[in-house]
Amino acid sequence: MSDKPEEPVNFIRQAINADLASNKHDKIITRFPPEPNGYLHIGHAKSIWLNFGIANDYDGECTLRFDDTNPIKEDEEFVEAIEQDVRWLGFKWSRIAHASDYFPALYKFALELIGKGLAYVDSMDIETMRECRGTLKEPGKNSPYRERSVGENVDLFERMKAGEFSDGEHVLRAKIDMQSSNINLRDPVIYRIRHHSHQRTGDEWCIYPMYDFTHGLSDAIEGVTHSLCTLEFEDHRPLYDWFLENVSAPCHPRQIEFSRLNLNYFVMSKRMLTQLVESGYVDGWDDPRMPTISGLRRRGFTASSVRNFIASVGITKKANVIEMGMLENAVREDLDSKSPRAMGVLKPLKLVIENYPEGESETIDVANHPHDPSMGIRQIKLIREVYIDRDDFMEDPPKKFFRLGPDREVRLRYGFVVHCHEVVKDNAGEVVELRCTYDPNTRNGNQPEGRKVKGIIHWVSAEHCIDATIRLYDRLFREANPLADKNRDFTESLNPDSLQVLTHCKLELSLGSPAPDTRYQFERLGYFYPDNDSDPSNLVYNRIVTLRDSWAKLDQQRKP
Ligand code: ATP
Ligand code: MG
Repeated sequence: MSDKPEEPVNFIRQAINADLASNKHDKIITRFPPEPNGYLHIGHAKSIWLNFGIANDYDGECTLRFDDTNPIKEDEEFVEAIEQDVRWLGFKWSRIAHASDYFPALYKFALELIGKGLAYVDSMDIETMRECRGTLKEPGKNSPYRERSVGENVDLFERMKAGEFSDGEHVLRAKIDMQSSNINLRDPVIYRIRHHSHQRTGDEWCIYPMYDFTHGLSDAIEGVTHSLCTLEFEDHRPLYDWFLENVSAPCHPRQIEFSRLNLNYFVMSKRMLTQLVESGYVDGWDDPRMPTISGLRRRGFTASSVRNFIASVGITKKANVIEMGMLENAVREDLDSKSPRAMGVLKPLKLVIENYPEGESETIDVANHPHDPSMGIRQIKLIREVYIDRDDFMEDPPKKFFRLGPDREVRLRYGFVVHCHEVVKDNAGEVVELRCTYDPNTRNGNQPEGRKVKGIIHWVSAEHCIDATIRLYDRLFREANPLADKNRDFTESLNPDSLQVLTHCKLELSLGSPAPDTRYQFERLGYFYPDNDSDPSNLVYNRIVTLRDSWAKLDQQRKP
């Protein structure tokens, strides 16, 4: 990854450096622990970049561990997608593990806690248990089952495992402190009954361990040295440590928290993303409008632009919301030097150059990149009939409109200056064709006699072009924070115009057989990438991003 920027020494790296300096460890081991209950989003990329990046830079190891303890929501489809996304982002795991690999070990740890009088089987119904938990202001109440004997607890727990009870009849709880000011320490549930087939262990288990119990102990089993997680787990750290201190864990990993990545105009929770997919608001997890890694990939984002973006956001403990424009700028910066240029017309309007002889043509050599000769040149054809973009013509243009209008002049990029002298309309009054003349002395960038033509527009030859469908994307949500109004479902702030599909766009021939893994800059219009739906008979390009941040101005206007 030669494009990786120099890593700043964030507070996590400082902690690791200190642990290495004091000889606490000689090898750094991290993990990335997604739950396979959805696709990864750009927020996960931060955790991936952090965990894999650290393992890489310290010659350590990073495990990709599937936190698969809730069989009801999890699926192999998600496991495969997660692996693909991590690989695409450019990271390699040292090994793959599953929390479910540790079910037997975790069961033993639970028995150990019971044996020490530190866990008990509770048989209260869920509702009562919730009430007994207390609130932030009020302490909890002890369960009447709290003082069950070790023997009774072992017996009940073994029978829970054997499938003698139905879902919800009993749970296993850690016996910590119902009075604790930290609610997480009020006898948290560590096992529950779920008669549900697991995607990996099938029907072997009908009791499943809870997240807090599983997580820290899985870290310990793997020899993780630094368990990096997001800030909402700060209050869980005492529990994380409690489990490790009270069972014979092979080691005691250090949990360090950092702030989540939030991006405006997006939601970043798998639950909400699932809702968007399942209710059909978007066209699947990899819809190019989604903040998922697969969506960004399909849209045309490069892995290096995502990594650079995360690096520029940095790792801190401060919760904040990052401007969407920053992600877009990262991809613009990355693509500017990498993308061949080409011309495409999104809303074609025919322009006939009447003094250009029919049947004749000229071939123009054009550089594929203005600053990179190694990208070579291509040849484009200019003939009597070309297409220009409708947006480059106005019937009654304001003074500052430097493009085409009746009795106005403009330069066809790489070609010559044309003058529009007639506007042809159909019966409905819509402009269907422009009649022009060209000035032969204005080739090679020469200005016409006695005047300066400022405007330059893109075009394609009407005979040397292909038809394509272009998908233009706008933000998925209308509002910067779709969750701001608690009385409204977040789907109500979806942007109804987030997808615009343009058919019969006209592209120059070089775009007809796009090179693999190549993003193109369509001159003046932005960066484009062939969509998965594309095939040789029906090309579909996605616009990744426009050339300039058109939202910066809008955001500015919105500020009070
Ligand atoms: P979600 O709320 O979207 O379901 P999650 O945290 O439950 O997210 P996991 O699959 O459990 O999703 O996450 C795997 C790892 O990614 C965790 O270590 C988690 O802290 C981290 N992670 C998730 N979302 C973000 C985010 N927005 N920014 C940084 N790290 C994140
Ligand atoms: Mg989670």
